[in-house]
Amino acid sequence: MQLAFTSDQQRFQNEVREFLSAKLPTEIAAKVARGAGVSQAETRAWHKTLAERGWAAPAWPAEYGGTGWNLVQRHIFDVECRRAQAPYLSAFGITMVGPAIARYGSDQQKAEHLPLILNAERSWCQGYSEPGAGSDLASVATRAERDGDDYIVNGSKIWTSAAELADWIFCLVRTNPDVQQQKGISFLLLDIKSPGVTIEPLYAFNGKRLWNQVFFDNVRVPTANRLGAEDRGWTVAKSLLGDERLMVSRVAENKRILGVARDMLAAEQADDKALAEMDYYQRRVDELEVRLQALEMTSLRLLLQADAGGQVGAEPSMLKLKGSELVQAMDELLFEAVGHWALPLDRASQARVSGEVLAGPERAEYVASGRYHHRGYTIAGGSSEVQHNIIAKAVLGL
Ligand SMILES: Cc1cc2nc3c(=O)[nH]c(=O)nc-3n(C[C@H](O)[C@H](O)[C@H](O)COP(=O)(O)OP(=O)(O)OC[C@H]3O[C@@H](n4cnc5c(N)ncnc54)[C@H](O)[C@@H]3O)c2cc1C
Repeated sequence: MQLAFTSDQQRFQNEVREFLSAKLPTEIAAKVARGAGVSQAETRAWHKTLAERGWAAPAWPAEYGGTGWNLVQRHIFDVECRRAQAPYLSAFGITMVGPAIARYGSDQQKAEHLPLILNAERSWCQGYSEPGAGSDLASVATRAERDGDDYIVNGSKIWTSAAELADWIFCLVRTNPDVQQQKGISFLLLDIKSPGVTIEPLYAFNGKRLWNQVFFDNVRVPTANRLGAEDRGWTVAKSLLGDERLMVSRVAENKRILGVARDMLAAEQADDKALAEMDYYQRRVDELEVRLQALEMTSLRLLLQADAGGQVGAEPSMLKLKGSELVQAMDELLFEAVGHWALPLDRASQARVSGEVLAGPERAEYVASGRYHHRGYTIAGGSSEVQHNIIAKAVLGL
């Protein structure tokens, strides 16, 4: 079964392709293709290029700099960006807090934050999880107590990705401990350089600084930095992703990785035969392709339905579950294909530290770093078990 876009959609696809081919620096695309890290400066430069074209924030309302695209166009844009090996923009500003500010922000908050996010001049991180609040997010305990026109914030956030690179953090804090959990939470926008904020690194098992724990010790935050009403932060948090929660299928990313897998299988040999020609690998690729096509059909069906104003139920949970599991299945195949070179070490970061020249094909670099990075996909943003619970309740009525 093949998907066919309408002529308008094809024109749009071509426009995106032409832009990417003209503007995406080849050295950045090569880094992304290799799975090597792209620096914050490089990501920011790419973000600015997109902003100049008016394409940095597809999900935002047009009046604040959004593109006005429908969901299918956003899907096409995403697929083309991944196909061209464009780096991801940091999601915390553009995808998460930006749309929330556009929806719930005061005029002053919109005027201050939105242009800076749109033009990559202020970077953000997400302060939701705490040592005692992850899947059960409503139990956040970081306390914000009123003191005149300020809140005094005490507590800590954990697993905060990119806090060391961020200018600001958006946080869920407890403003009322005496009511039902969800009803006593507020949403604060907080300058991470404020006195009393300390950032401690947390390292993943491959030695990379993947997260941080952020501590708040009597941090003074103006009440004017609260997004939405006091004690209504749960509503803001739930709406944070808006339409973006429909874009969780990772179809574009899976397509990109399958492309990498095909190249790798064509290049790697065993007994003088390309792996791509072996029955075993052909079957593995076919199986992944079928799963990917099923995911894309389901995703596009949902996007078309939402574009036409239809109701969305538990489908985003299904897409998140299937899309993240598929990425991990692709990683398994890559890991098998580069065999002993895909050592359980992140070769790229090891080499950067030691300065040594790596043995084995360059593409093996991609495999370990990708596999370790993607491990978090079935945990962050709602673990697979939590998605199963949502589906069981909403679809099966359990
Ligand atoms: C790569 C990565 C980046 C992240 N970045 C951020 C960030 O920037 N900001 C931020 O705030 N957080 C971030 N997180 C944290 C993430 O949101 C939490 O890890 C996630 O919500 C799970 O919470 P937890 O780690 O406390 O695990 P827990 O909630 O303690 O869960 C532990 C285990 O129990 C299972 N479980 C929990 N509840 C149930 C249930 N009701 N039924 C069945 N099983 C259940 C879970 O699936 C999991 O396997 C990140 C996590 C990862 C992996």
